[in-house]
Amino acid sequence: MAKILDGNAVAAAVKAEVASDVSRLAENGVVPGLAVVLVGDDPASATYVRMKERDCAEAGVRAVDYRRPAETTQAELEAIIDECNADPSIHGILVQMPLPDHLDAEAAVARIAPEKDVDGFHPVSLGRLVRGLPASRACTPFGVMRMLEHHGIEVAGKEAVVIGRSTIVGKPMALMLLEANATVTVCHSRTRDLAGVCRRADILIAAVGRPEMVTAEYVKEGAVVIDVGINRTDAGMVGDVDFASVEPVASAISPVPGGVGPMTRAMLVANTVHAAVAASGR
Ligand code: NAD
Repeated sequence: MAKILDGNAVAAAVKAEVASDVSRLAENGVVPGLAVVLVGDDPASATYVRMKERDCAEAGVRAVDYRRPAETTQAELEAIIDECNADPSIHGILVQMPLPDHLDAEAAVARIAPEKDVDGFHPVSLGRLVRGLPASRACTPFGVMRMLEHHGIEVAGKEAVVIGRSTIVGKPMALMLLEANATVTVCHSRTRDLAGVCRRADILIAAVGRPEMVTAEYVKEGAVVIDVGINRTDAGMVGDVDFASVEPVASAISPVPGGVGPMTRAMLVANTVHAAVAASGR
């Protein structure tokens, strides 16, 4: 029986850790502020934003909502970002993805002041990750690292395989595992013998976006399996891992829901609080 890596429990521990920073900031008259920019009416994005704002409220972070219609122009979006960049009460800026097709997401992210990039997607944040320098780390892979650490799962020297090479999950995940001294392989849609490569993994991270693609055939006996996937199916939300077949083979596995998702939001709160600490010098 695999150990279930409960993301809600680890997220609570992360929020408890940042609570001391939040109260010290409060003693100095500083409330961490997160601007949440949501353009359009994508229902999944609206749900994510609602959950992120709820987590902020619980942690004493002030979320400032910028909801705009789908017809918002690039200039209007960038004007909001500029306003938030200039506002000292805003320490973090989140532009919820995906943006409507007519908007340039790359330009929007690059417009955010790097020190307010609490999502960790800005080229400066990603460049600093490559160089091993401090910066906000991309929330989802950062949450995975925190989850592994919390459960005492050793990373150094382990074979880690990441399925997926996106800028928001796969690539920064690989870099963070490398930073923690794993031997890292990154797989993607053109990888040959995906199951065979995955079976080498002591730590297998699935960030693909294909419901229950990773079956027991992909997993070495005793591997740690982290499921980043969020897929909405007729049967409800499922991950990229076929939990029923993988759980008996793995030594530890993160569930969906209740695994990586809550960790992502907790790391957003942590990044925002740390940005407030850095900005205020408190
Ligand atoms: P993406 O579509 O940008 O990237 C998917 C990656 O999977 C690509 O690099 C692609 O090469 C690879 N891929 C696609 N088909 C493949 C196949 N058949 N075999 C091997 N590799 C394949 O997606 P993303 O933004 O990285 O998200 C991945 C998943 O993680 C999605 O389900 C997404 O909803 C979820 N996600 C979850 C969280 C969270 O907080 N839990 C955060 C972000 C993304």
